[in-house]
Amino acid sequence: MSETIRSALQEAIYKLNAPSDDPRLEATALLAHCLEKPRSYLFAHDEEELPRKASKEFAKLIKRRCKGEPYAYVIGRREFWSLELEVNSNVLIPRPDTEVLVEAALKHIPPDLPCLVADLGTGSGAIAIAISHERPQAQITATDISAKALVVATANAERLVPTRVEFKKGDWLDCLEGERFDVIISNPPYVAVRDPHLADLPYEPTKALVAGADGLDELIRLIPEAPDHLRKGGWLLVEHGSDQGEEVRKLFLNAGFSNVATRFDLAGSERVTQGQV
Ligand code: GLN
Repeated sequence: MSETIRSALQEAIYKLNAPSDDPRLEATALLAHCLEKPRSYLFAHDEEELPRKASKEFAKLIKRRCKGEPYAYVIGRREFWSLELEVNSNVLIPRPDTEVLVEAALKHIPPDLPCLVADLGTGSGAIAIAISHERPQAQITATDISAKALVVATANAERLVPTRVEFKKGDWLDCLEGERFDVIISNPPYVAVRDPHLADLPYEPTKALVAGADGLDELIRLIPEAPDHLRKGGWLLVEHGSDQGEEVRKLFLNAGFSNVATRFDLAGSERVTQGQV
């Protein structure tokens, strides 16, 4: 029996019930992706036969999703700050909580003045690109230690904010020798190595998530280095775990920052700490 768009969708929706909170949305988006058509096409052509190539590709994607791979990796994109970012398993999937970090950073980046901004550990480029989208005049440098992550970030930036973000490969501030910024932002890895929550994230790069026994290893390296790379009055903003606020504020104070304060995420947990030099 030949497979129509409708029958393929019905079967996929049934299968996606297990891994997905919204099987219909995921099935239609994945099939539209395989057909290279908008989702609306599916509903207007649901009696049409599904071409073999699209059918095969669709089956492959549904299989990956049913094994537990995150939807964002299977479809290859995730929306962040209303921007469509390409993602793959070389980068962390951008989280809505990180929009709190972007929002906080924007308060220190005036729309009408030149401003030097660094995004450390940029991953998919989400933070740097969102900031550049809101503040086209800002001069943004984004770094990552992973060459594979930089491939993803560079492609996203070229598509969304062409020529506006400069990328460098390096470990935190190592590749920014002698450079100073008005604002430094980072969403570093901050999950403790034994955090049970990691069991739910087997597909994301461990290096982007995990930072030692208490999740603070990278924040401990990064925060004290930042003042030497900030202009007078400049700000550092970092994302961290909901139970790390107190420790992170201490790290800021020990590094000589003033106006140290923590902001809450969408769930009401401490998530972003900032300080000024
Ligand atoms: N917020 C992510 C999570 O807990 C972790 C992100 C990070 O380590 N930077 O899933």
